[in-house]
Amino acid sequence: MTPRIAIVGAGPCGLTLARLLECKGIEYVVYERDESEVANRRGGSLDIHAETGQRALKEAGLFDEFKKHARYEDDVFTIANQQGERVFQDCQGSDAPEMDRVTLRQMLLDSIPKDKIRWGHPLKSTALGEDGHRLLQFQDGTSASGFKLVIGADGAWSKVRPSVTQAKPQYSGNHYIESRISPNSLYYPIMVSKVGAGTLMCLGSSKEIVTQRQGDGSYRIYLGITVPEDFVRGGTVDLTDTESTRRLFLSSAFFGDWADDLKDLIRYSDDFRSWPLYYTDPEAVGWKHVPGLTLAGDAAHVAVPNGEGVNCAMVDALELASKVAAYGIHDLDRAVAEYEEDMFRRGAEHVRDGLKMAALIRHEDGPSALISFFHDAMASAAAQTS
Ligand SMILES: Cc1cc2nc3c(=O)[nH]c(=O)nc-3n(C[C@H](O)[C@H](O)[C@H](O)COP(=O)(O)OP(=O)(O)OC[C@H]3O[C@@H](n4cnc5c(N)ncnc54)[C@H](O)[C@@H]3O)c2cc1C
Repeated sequence: MTPRIAIVGAGPCGLTLARLLECKGIEYVVYERDESEVANRRGGSLDIHAETGQRALKEAGLFDEFKKHARYEDDVFTIANQQGERVFQDCQGSDAPEMDRVTLRQMLLDSIPKDKIRWGHPLKSTALGEDGHRLLQFQDGTSASGFKLVIGADGAWSKVRPSVTQAKPQYSGNHYIESRISPNSLYYPIMVSKVGAGTLMCLGSSKEIVTQRQGDGSYRIYLGITVPEDFVRGGTVDLTDTESTRRLFLSSAFFGDWADDLKDLIRYSDDFRSWPLYYTDPEAVGWKHVPGLTLAGDAAHVAVPNGEGVNCAMVDALELASKVAAYGIHDLDRAVAEYEEDMFRRGAEHVRDGLKMAALIRHEDGPSALISFFHDAMASAAAQTS
């Protein structure tokens, strides 16, 4: 018999949800667009927070496994200015260890029976079937039917979302251009000695260069720039041409007046790709409950990166699984309505926080605005514990 719950998307949200339903003995099936488990091994390192992502993993019985892979030594966050001077460091251990996205995905996949994931199923749309249950229509023209609940955990460009809300992600005005410095690069030993563990965020002239150490020791570099939405698609830069890409970002239009040490991060990195950054209008995180359908994670509330996206997605999974278990398979709409009430508040707050962080990060005064924010946050946390 077809399981009554379909999850669309095997990202951190969909797989955490699948694992939690598995633990609770509730039948489900996951449909994922990737062709196989190994088809998509990309993605940077994610910091998994104690109160959110780690809480979900504890509930999923995966915390011991998580600790085997979690990089507590990379829980170091440093801010520098565009001269490369380090002006702030937080290495107090905020209990937000790093884990590569591929490792997190693999850990979750290993905790779910293989036959519960249908790879190579890119969803096109959802519809109401003649039996009154939800129907999934895939891009290859096939379909799957009979679901009492379809959960769209299919990320920012969700194909479930149009059946639930008119809201669409908006372009934030900013891109991250991602690249990498691998252990086999000539520059790697210098990188290790100068940057070391964790994340280094260099801020100035409303731009940023972020370096982040990955599980295999390589470094991801993110160039944060304000450019039109079609900057890459429209042909302003061809990221497959490494030399011309480096030249462009080293020019005066971008990082030409930054410290030479920081420009080395561009000179020696390769494998460029782009991340135009989108967000859901916080006012649009909310809709009239649609029976048999809901959204979770980025599908419901994509935010500009603020270090919380994956954590927020995993909490959605946790709260939704708990409600489904509490009300049972025969009262799914009540479970979903209660989940949505909290998720709308949590999601909108997450998106607003992302916008606030983006404004601080891209502040024209450089790092001082973000540092003041962190100092205020630390002072208020200290006052609460004293
Ligand atoms: C550059 C960048 C850096 C980031 N860094 C961090 C960070 O450090 N910390 C943090 O917490 N967050 C970070 N985020 C945000 C974080 O990646 C997301 O919030 C998180 O991945 C959301 O998880 P999700 O499962 O909801 O969606 P996704 O991770 O997007 O997963 C969606 C899944 O659905 C599948 N899918 C998509 N469309 C379909 C379809 N039509 N049919 C079937 N399957 C489909 C996808 O293949 C994927 O497997 C970052 C984001 C970006 C862009």
